[in-house]
Amino acid sequence: MNNTPSTCNSCSALAQDNLTLFETKYWKVDLAPNQAYLGRSYVNLKRHAGHLSSLTPDEWAELGEVVRRFEETATKVFDATCFNWTALMNNAYKSDSPDPHLHLHIWPRYQTAPVVNGVVFEDPNFAHHYDKTAVRDIEPGLIDAIKLQLIDGAL
Ligand SMILES: [Zn+2]
Repeated sequence: MNNTPSTCNSCSALAQDNLTLFETKYWKVDLAPNQAYLGRSYVNLKRHAGHLSSLTPDEWAELGEVVRRFEETATKVFDATCFNWTALMNNAYKSDSPDPHLHLHIWPRYQTAPVVNGVVFEDPNFAHHYDKTAVRDIEPGLIDAIKLQLIDGAL
């Protein structure tokens, strides 16, 4: 990777694998610690580049495969109804010298609340914008169960 600022959250995420769902040549997909929306995840580009317009044709093509794989798996495992994808990079621009690292947020959405290990994950604002302030910290055993179901479901 080129240009990996020590303060970059995405570069830090690339160095960790405790919540990793899968990796491809150009992308890494990690479950988010905040599971206010079941299966909420991040997709990080595996090099420090800041914009969708920075992607090579091969990176674009592979992103399409990442989207397909994630959506098919979360639909199969948790019966997700649809997905909100965002590529915001706003935090980088809070700095005086912005140096964004392209990443995407995945917000699976649910018409019917899924249940994992007896825990119900409501989506009270389904069919509307996700609630970006929603926080749901869950016990480590439950996040491990969510991770394993998404990993196994992709097989
Ligand atoms: Zn970075």
